[in-house]
Amino acid sequence: MKYYSLRHQSPLVDFRTATVTGQAPDGGLYFPETIPKFLPGFRRELRTLSKATVALNVMQPYVGSAIPAADLHRICAEAVDFEFPLVPVAAGVSALELFHGPTLAFKDVGARFMSRCLGYFAQRGDTPPVTVLVATSGDTGGAVASGFLGVPGVEVVILYPSGKVSPVQEQQLTTLGQNITALEVQGTFDDCQALVKQAFQDPELAKKRFLTSANSINVARWLPQQLYYCFTMQQWPEGAAAPVVSVPSGNFGNICAGLLARASGLALGHFIAACNANEPVPAYLRTGTFTPRPAVPTFSNAMDVGNPSNFVRILELFDNDLAKMRAALGADTVSDADTVAAIRQVWQAHRYLLDPHGAVAYTALRRYQAQHPEVAGIILATAHPVKFPDVVEPVLGRAIELPAVVQALQGRAKRSVPVSIDYEDLKAYLM
Ligand SMILES: *Cc1c(COP(=O)(O)O)cnc(C)c1O
Repeated sequence: MKYYSLRHQSPLVDFRTATVTGQAPDGGLYFPETIPKFLPGFRRELRTLSKATVALNVMQPYVGSAIPAADLHRICAEAVDFEFPLVPVAAGVSALELFHGPTLAFKDVGARFMSRCLGYFAQRGDTPPVTVLVATSGDTGGAVASGFLGVPGVEVVILYPSGKVSPVQEQQLTTLGQNITALEVQGTFDDCQALVKQAFQDPELAKKRFLTSANSINVARWLPQQLYYCFTMQQWPEGAAAPVVSVPSGNFGNICAGLLARASGLALGHFIAACNANEPVPAYLRTGTFTPRPAVPTFSNAMDVGNPSNFVRILELFDNDLAKMRAALGADTVSDADTVAAIRQVWQAHRYLLDPHGAVAYTALRRYQAQHPEVAGIILATAHPVKFPDVVEPVLGRAIELPAVVQALQGRAKRSVPVSIDYEDLKAYLM
């Protein structure tokens, strides 16, 4: 498989180069040259296959000869080594729970897959030692830290805004040690992102360190997200109509991977991009004009993205044809008030506890079903509610029990390096 830059000013590359460099030299995102079709046998036998085998089948065409099958099988098995249950929530709605991984975030799958690919390339000497540099508003950092922990040849530096991540998230970032360093920035998430961006453009730093990113721009983090949709179909009732799929969306990596799996032949129905007040994509689907805006803060803060980087991949998938896109994909905007109302209603009526991101997806699905009462749907539950106690606990009226993986972090020493928002401070550290 070859990958091309969506800006078309860079050479084609293989999976290894796309993974190691993250972004094309012309600044574009990489996109696969062809979209593989799932074989009829794979679709027929999907229910009987192990998660690792499903993962190998889906990822093999994208990885090509860059990683031999036996190594890829091991990487796949480690990436999906936890449960992905499809849980009934209410009549016509099930939740695919993606929060049973080591950091209770759906980003665990992509982070684990990418880290092991990078580790494989580094160990073979295919690349110099790599530094993964990433800014986080909370969830990405924890998943990346956990995914890359102990991977040889890879050092991880995470920038997070001091005092602006939840206690659980801070523990996930700052207590691991080994090859993971947390830089505690005296500023906002936007400051963290600006610092990372500056580091990537610094030629002096590039001579000293081989930097790469670990967000969903990277194909090795983006593509394995197709697996959630395969795991859904493994559990969807046999013979039932294809489910409508509501995906809480921020940078649009997850939903774009779902649309890719659909294009490969997975029997999924209509897609809904469920957004909070950050709504450049819903506005695009309404008007045909895409206008990025500064992000506004909401309760579903992992989706507070004003200029979603994967939107260009969605455009590419639909050949830049708005009518074609609208036929497969709708979008909706859910306010904070409606998010909390959904958490309360679903808890009171069904004793199912949604997190704010899942609640946005639930609301968008319910609004769609109000117009299409016959269709059953799924929401992707992207985070565990324990990560958002400020929103969820007032509804619940008590504290949420901490899952075992979070309890294990309690009492471990926090280690972080304070840095200012002055780039020279970060540079001094990295040099
Ligand atoms: C990252 C994240 C999202 C958004 O996913 P994208 O792929 O960026 O659209 C949604 N929910 C949670 C909990 C997240 O951490």
